Amino acid sequence: MRATCATIHMDALRGNLRRVRELAPGRKVLAVVKADAYGHGLERVARALTDADAFGVAAIQDGQRLRAGGFEQRIVVMSGIDHPDDLVEMRRLGLDSVVHSDMQIAWLAADRDPRPINIWLKIDSGMHRLGFRAGRAAAVYRQLKALPGVADDIVLMTHFANSDVLDDDLTQQQVRTFESATAGLPGQHSLANSAGVIGWPQSHGDWIRTGGALYGISLFAGKVGSDFGLSPAMTLSTRLIAVNHLRAGDRVGYGSTWQCPTDSIIGVAAIGYGDGYPRAVANGAPVLVNGRRARIAGRVSMDLTSIDLSEQPDARIGDPVVLWGQGLPIEEVADAAGTIGYDLVCGMTRRVRFVEAD
Ligand SMILES: *Cc1c(COP(=O)(O)O)cnc(C)c1O
Repeated sequence: MRATCATIHMDALRGNLRRVRELAPGRKVLAVVKADAYGHGLERVARALTDADAFGVAAIQDGQRLRAGGFEQRIVVMSGIDHPDDLVEMRRLGLDSVVHSDMQIAWLAADRDPRPINIWLKIDSGMHRLGFRAGRAAAVYRQLKALPGVADDIVLMTHFANSDVLDDDLTQQQVRTFESATAGLPGQHSLANSAGVIGWPQSHGDWIRTGGALYGISLFAGKVGSDFGLSPAMTLSTRLIAVNHLRAGDRVGYGSTWQCPTDSIIGVAAIGYGDGYPRAVANGAPVLVNGRRARIAGRVSMDLTSIDLSEQPDARIGDPVVLWGQGLPIEEVADAAGTIGYDLVCGMTRRVRFVEAD
């Protein structure tokens, strides 16, 4: 049996939700569980986070899975409907819909079913991805209000482009743009993602929308989740399946990109990009072998990764290897791969075994 395994720490998820509530006291928490809960497993994460006030998903299918699992919280489909027929399933499941485009309003207006849907009206305050121009907020709000199929309490929302960069004043500008666009409109406000919760208290509004923080991952450069009192919710691990004694000058792996500077001990771990461990990591990326730091030697291959164990001459076949998680911040591995922690946890492939731990 291949040892590659993603352990999901249920108490870390619960603790991170408590920590998020401490950081944004009194606010409602929409737990973002899109992309199979950032790769951690949708139903599993929803079970750990039943205290959340709502769940945020990217697809109606995720809403189907959550309702089938018995979860009764509000569920927000964060880009709303992609087709007029989607309204039938949204109503059947009782899902909230984001509305970000005139097309979606036209679909709602043409719909004859009077049972109201909860709407989150998305304003573009400067990210320029989804949402109505700030100058149109009041007019669009009135348009929605007039539709019989729209529930009374419209939530007003926007999304930040750069909230993980504390010296970029775009976030402050986005808050101002949003607040002035929505001034005088009744409805709860939702602005902050995880970085907004941590770095921009003025953006907390009524509903925070946290993903990364719940999984213990930070996006702030040079910081890791534990700097903010968060714990990693996933540990990716495997075992050594070979330990080789090589000579000075021997080269390791595809492309022969790593050369032994002296006689070296090279361990081979049962993990590779076929599991979702990033091939992009540079020579020298950190791993833990028997809980102690070691470095990757050469290229990551599909099933296997070589590790310089010259400082661990006692390492043996079967010894545990941690790629990220408890004891090794994923942010460091993400840096070595030129990406962010979110990307790594979303990338676990189907052959990785998932286990739950408390
Ligand atoms: C993904 C997403 C979030 C959560 O962002 P995190 O950085 O993971 O907290 C919040 N709002 C919207 C609209 C999103 O798409």
